[in-house]
Amino acid sequence: MPQNKFEHAIIVGGSLGGLMMGLALSRSGYTVTILERADSSLRNGAFIRLHTKPSRNSEIERELRHLASSGDNNVEAWSAIQERLRNAVANEPGITLQHHTRIVSVGQNESSAWATSEEEQTFKGDFLIGADGYRSIVRRYLSPDKPFADYAGYLVWVGKVDEKLLPKNDWKKRQLSSAYFNDSAAGTLTTAVMPGIEGGTNPGQRWIGFCWFDHSHNHLLSELGVLKGGIAQHKRGILPFEKTVKQKIRSIYKLGGISMNDTKNRYVTVLWEARAKAGREAEMKAFMTAAVTPSRNDLGNIDYEAHEVEGQPGTFIIYERWENRDALDRHLSAPRMQELVPQLLELMEGSIEEGIRLLQPFRPAQ
Ligand SMILES: Cc1cc2nc3c(=O)[nH]c(=O)nc-3n(C[C@H](O)[C@H](O)[C@H](O)COP(=O)(O)OP(=O)(O)OC[C@H]3O[C@@H](n4cnc5c(N)ncnc54)[C@H](O)[C@@H]3O)c2cc1C
Repeated sequence: MPQNKFEHAIIVGGSLGGLMMGLALSRSGYTVTILERADSSLRNGAFIRLHTKPSRNSEIERELRHLASSGDNNVEAWSAIQERLRNAVANEPGITLQHHTRIVSVGQNESSAWATSEEEQTFKGDFLIGADGYRSIVRRYLSPDKPFADYAGYLVWVGKVDEKLLPKNDWKKRQLSSAYFNDSAAGTLTTAVMPGIEGGTNPGQRWIGFCWFDHSHNHLLSELGVLKGGIAQHKRGILPFEKTVKQKIRSIYKLGGISMNDTKNRYVTVLWEARAKAGREAEMKAFMTAAVTPSRNDLGNIDYEAHEVEGQPGTFIIYERWENRDALDRHLSAPRMQELVPQLLELMEGSIEEGIRLLQPFRPAQ
């Protein structure tokens, strides 16, 4: 037990940092109250690799490393680590973890520190620790001149997918615990192979975690006001962005209007012409080239050909045919469009809609 007057710690935030800090303090003899605004459900995430070494640290650090990593130098699901820390906290007599407690202000004087929730409940301790993430209330209190963290320069899309949902041919190519990095113009995609939901480690039983460090939306985020002066604004960040992309896609549908509806069960032909901004011709050509194969692979595609108009470098015509309207709809709302539409708008003159013509097929009666 510490022989000092500080005995009770308040921690704001009960995620990985707050839980780990709480365990470290409790095992050092402090009583701890962790205040977390969220409910007790586990959060989604991608993966983390935790190391069990090194050996010259304190006993508490060794224990906690072992706990967080489950004793292996493995890549593991973020939520698996969170769950293990939560269970350890639940079994730790010195810690109270309180969910549904959003802290709205913190303060301190010579002898104590406190946090007040939006329900106006005040939690007092001998000292207070901020583990409340990137929009920290505690940081705002301590550094009023720099209340928010800088935007790192990219969005991160994180998640995990059950390997058995991915093509079976690829299962054996992946090694458990390996991380793969793919760089592209849109950023870096990191994937890692980790034990699955039941802890299964055989091909087909595992999770594939992914983190896509995506810097291709920065311009759009600024346009939407989600990013201001290098600081991410807290206004349901991604929602307006999704809405914009969806609106864009919807307006592409709408362009066909009635004639598209008429072709419901027949094949649909789209002729789309677009011109590159001056100086962006080569980039746009590369972009169009990259779009061909994925579009051809979309279900219901009959033809997808990209052309550059002879004598007009930078003017492109795409000729596409789809088995029916549903196939075209599926193609336009494919997840990759979220990324591609804003990229394309950066490269081309005017709007996508202006250049689209839908051709209504007709044939001789016999
Ligand atoms: C959805 C998501 C998934 C992620 N996945 C990964 C991943 O797979 N791998 C990786 O390495 N990194 C990932 N990260 C990055 C992540 O920031 C770190 O891994 C790690 O979560 C940082 O831990 P932390 O405890 O410092 O902060 P956070 O995890 O951000 O935790 C802050 C906690 O404080 C709580 N809180 C905030 N404000 C208040 C308040 N006013 N009152 C009470 N509670 C409050 C929040 O609800 C949250 O639980 C992810 C981040 C997010 C948002």
